[in-house]
Amino acid sequence: MKNFIKLLIVAIVLFLICELIFSPKSNVPLGLENIDTKCCSNVQCNKPSTNKSFQKHIVAVKALGNVDESDIYDVINIIEQFYGYTAYVGTPVKLTQDLFVDGSDIVNADACLNKFFSKEKVVYVLDKRLWRNGNYLRGYAATNGGTVFVRGEKSYLRETTIHELGHTLGLNHCNDLSCIMAINNDQYDSGTFCRKCANQISFYE
Ligand SMILES: [Zn+2]
Ligand SMILES: [Zn+2]
Repeated sequence: MKNFIKLLIVAIVLFLICELIFSPKSNVPLGLENIDTKCCSNVQCNKPSTNKSFQKHIVAVKALGNVDESDIYDVINIIEQFYGYTAYVGTPVKLTQDLFVDGSDIVNADACLNKFFSKEKVVYVLDKRLWRNGNYLRGYAATNGGTVFVRGEKSYLRETTIHELGHTLGLNHCNDLSCIMAINNDQYDSGTFCRKCANQISFYE
């Protein structure tokens, strides 16, 4: 009888070990979640997207002129959290006279883009007002290029960074006011892409 109990205990232990080793884990491979299943298209949806279906990029974040170091790290965190890219502090760049609107303290966005255009993703953060064609801009980017300029202003740093990087992924402005690619939509902005834009990025990738 004692032997039978011993055998029974051994059998139970073996069964438990087999269960631990062979029980199926999650079937979803890491990094392959589809953004479509995570993103809602209504205004209430503030859920940040993990966006792991995006192609991986490595993004340099550079100060353009004198910029508060915390702005650089904020931009790095925003990029890493939203896009899942790797971002790092790049070599700071000087704001030279040729980048200013004549004799002013305002930076010419086109002059910056002409001077720093690159295919690689580089985000320049500046603490000056950015100007183009009579408008002051929170940010500026080359569509389908890699160059992005954002003004280091805490209140809209996140929206601007995500929006401008969206342009580098081929997105244009969006009519859906809840979408981060819409313009003049502060009170409706959900902080992420609408379904249409999200799908378009997957297409471009
Ligand atoms: Zn834009
Ligand atoms: Zn959109």
